[in-house]
Amino acid sequence: MADADHKIPSTMVDGNTLVAMCLARAGVDKMFGVVGIPVTTLANRAVALGVRFIAFHNEQSAGYAASAYGYLSGRPGVLLTVSGPGCVHGLAGLSNAQINSWPMVMISGSSEQSCVGRGDFQELDQVAAVKPFSKFSAKATDVSKIPSSVFSVIDWAVAGRPGGTYLDIPSDVLRHTVEVSEAERLITEALNSTDKDLILKPEVNHSKIQKAVELLRKAERPLIVFGKGAAYAKAENELTKLVESTGIPFLPTPMGKGLLPDTHELAATAARSLAIGKCDVALVVGARLNWLLHFGEPPRWSKDVKFVLVDVCKQEIELRNPSLGIVGDAKDVVEMIHKEIEDDPFVLGKNHPWVEDIKRKVKDNVAKMEAQLVKDVVPFNFMTPMRIIRDAISGMGSPAPILVSEGANTMDVGRAVLVQTEPRTRLDAGTWGTMGVGLGYCIAAAVAEPDRLVVAVEGDSGFGFSAMEVETLVRYQLPVVVIVFNNGGVYGGDRRNPEEITGPHKDDPAPTSFVPGAAYHILLEAFGGKGYLVGTPDELKSALDESFSARKPTVINVTIDPYAGAESGRMQHRN
Ligand code: ADP
Ligand code: MG
Repeated sequence: MADADHKIPSTMVDGNTLVAMCLARAGVDKMFGVVGIPVTTLANRAVALGVRFIAFHNEQSAGYAASAYGYLSGRPGVLLTVSGPGCVHGLAGLSNAQINSWPMVMISGSSEQSCVGRGDFQELDQVAAVKPFSKFSAKATDVSKIPSSVFSVIDWAVAGRPGGTYLDIPSDVLRHTVEVSEAERLITEALNSTDKDLILKPEVNHSKIQKAVELLRKAERPLIVFGKGAAYAKAENELTKLVESTGIPFLPTPMGKGLLPDTHELAATAARSLAIGKCDVALVVGARLNWLLHFGEPPRWSKDVKFVLVDVCKQEIELRNPSLGIVGDAKDVVEMIHKEIEDDPFVLGKNHPWVEDIKRKVKDNVAKMEAQLVKDVVPFNFMTPMRIIRDAISGMGSPAPILVSEGANTMDVGRAVLVQTEPRTRLDAGTWGTMGVGLGYCIAAAVAEPDRLVVAVEGDSGFGFSAMEVETLVRYQLPVVVIVFNNGGVYGGDRRNPEEITGPHKDDPAPTSFVPGAAYHILLEAFGGKGYLVGTPDELKSALDESFSARKPTVINVTIDPYAGAESGRMQHRN
């Protein structure tokens, strides 16, 4: 028995209970993880205090879930792992949170402090291991340090630019006991001594707001770009007011999609190259000028473009050295810009040449894409099933499902074809281009937003990273429909030139190949979920119809022509 309750008098609590009490006190309502030595009791105690524990098969997926939960809920997603290898597996999620600027706390048990350096069970210097992947860490070296450690990792995760933090709790500390009254005193003391400034939003410099408005007012070709930082800040209403009162076209990054609907008349998404190539002032809100935005440099951007960067992180602004940088919360800053404009309004009228150019280009590009989409191509290419999925999702209305997307061609084509109409309804490979996030993100989305259906559109390779978590979907009966674009491998079929296929292992399958026709739908049925194998438009339509109304764990295995699409999707030049 992992639980040692019978040994603890009722006037005492052990470290496990104290951690659980602190988590509950800090408002943690969900925890993701894998139990085992030494954290099983901790998980049970947290559940007993009202925290929902979602138990995974692998810490990697649980960690991805915690990272996405942080993004969707605005509160740190918490990952619980065992020591040593559990902590190492969890680094995948922790680093993903850190890179995406999402709040997450990883809590790992660690080996006995008295055995350190002597090869204890699962011994690892975990605080050192997490260092490159987190912005703050704490080790509770004594049971009395638990409350202050728990509250500080939670505050640090959301402070400033959100990110990953780590809490290390040695096994002996989890076992040690204190009087209940002492536990309460420690919690109160820790709460009273937390640094309140840490989680304050930065104060916005008003003269910079005036400068931003001046730049936008004088611009001939202004553009508003926003990303997942603006989504995290819940800046959708403020951005909508700003866009609609000024008539300035907007461009979301992939996860910024939906803050304003993709179908909005000022959406420049389908004219992205023109919009970024020609704009003269770009107000960039909660989005980094990194590889996803071509570093803000020519030839993709004009060399004369003036950037107004809004970011909660001062270092980010210093790094990019824009014409104007405003440190602040996206929602606050956009609201202030809008208010400042209201005093002396300006609007790019319907016949404004820049707006007309963008609208024309959007219309042309949409027409071109629709021409490709209308044809039913069988065996399926990427376009035909994506159109059918798009139409099925649109048919659902509000609340829109949360879309989870990963893969190469599957994600690229999906980003262009699938329509986002509500904020924070898209989760994809993100800043790091992380593959393997799929099932973790699905599970996080389902528990974070129980009213929404979750629809994952994934390549077969992306799906494979976390496929065993389909059992987790069934166990918790989550409303998740996973659609696997199955083209038999990474990028699809064997694309090597014949002269590359040589040497003693030439008869092995290509490094990109999986078993052709893999029956991923049966994988889910092994656990009692519902699986479909589809290869035609009618089969796909009926599988979507049924599964969207059933709202039960489902895998739809879509057979795709292994030679459709390009190797590496849109990233071919890098492979
Ligand atoms: P995307 O991938 O959508 O372009 P990024 O992750 O590159 O988005 O950028 C998000 C940016 O948003 C980060 O630089 C982060 O510091 C910033 N950010 C996070 N939270 C906020 C907030 N509340 N207000 C403003 N900016 C924020
Ligand atoms: Mg594939």
